Amino acid sequence: MLKVLTIDGPSGSGKGTVAKILAQKLEWDLLDSGALYRLVAYGALKHGIELDDEQSLSELALNLDVEFRLEEGSELLIPVFEGEDVSKKIRTETCGDAASKVAALTPVRDALLDRQRAFATEAGLIADGRDMGTVVFPDAPVKVYLSASAEERAERRYNQLKSSGESVSIAAILDEIKARDARDMNREVAPLKPAADAIEIDSTHLSIDEVVNQVSDALSK
Ligand code: C5P
Repeated sequence: MLKVLTIDGPSGSGKGTVAKILAQKLEWDLLDSGALYRLVAYGALKHGIELDDEQSLSELALNLDVEFRLEEGSELLIPVFEGEDVSKKIRTETCGDAASKVAALTPVRDALLDRQRAFATEAGLIADGRDMGTVVFPDAPVKVYLSASAEERAERRYNQLKSSGESVSIAAILDEIKARDARDMNREVAPLKPAADAIEIDSTHLSIDEVVNQVSDALSK
């Protein structure tokens, strides 16, 4: 049977953290599909490609020159794009915003499909994204949809930015989160929604450990 656990949900729902913890715990591989859309966006900004130029963007996505290197002394994979460590650069708000624009284009999504599916091997895979359970791995035996209120997600992001020394207003973050949700949920192609057979978890009032336990329980059933 396919050893794939999909975790989908909006930004800030905690799915990335939960996916990382579970991948380490189970010793399964991890697919951070958002990173691929962020890399396409980063490449577009770097090479001056317009964010609605479907042809150039899909070529970029298909030939994405990226390698994921294991960081020394850690389990974390570093994205090396065109020879450059871009782990920090793809995490900016600008890149996230551009990623959600290129992610709304069908040819870009199609171009990334095979690359994402190739992550699923016998080793087992935790696939984190927006359409892992609905489009990329529709046959995954366990699917999770992790959400949290927009206000809670804004507060988490605010605390994250504050601890890294950045000063942004919580109201601005909330606006940005709502705009990104609207774009991800209302787009025509692969809109963000739970798969019909997904287990839905609302993490608004849950700790990361509580979410990890709920997902682990679902996996062991
Ligand atoms: O998860 P992350 O915030 O890194 O994703 C960046 C953007 O990429 C999301 O806002 C979404 O628009 C897009 N994305 C997507 N499908 C995925 C993963 C991410 O459309 N599977």
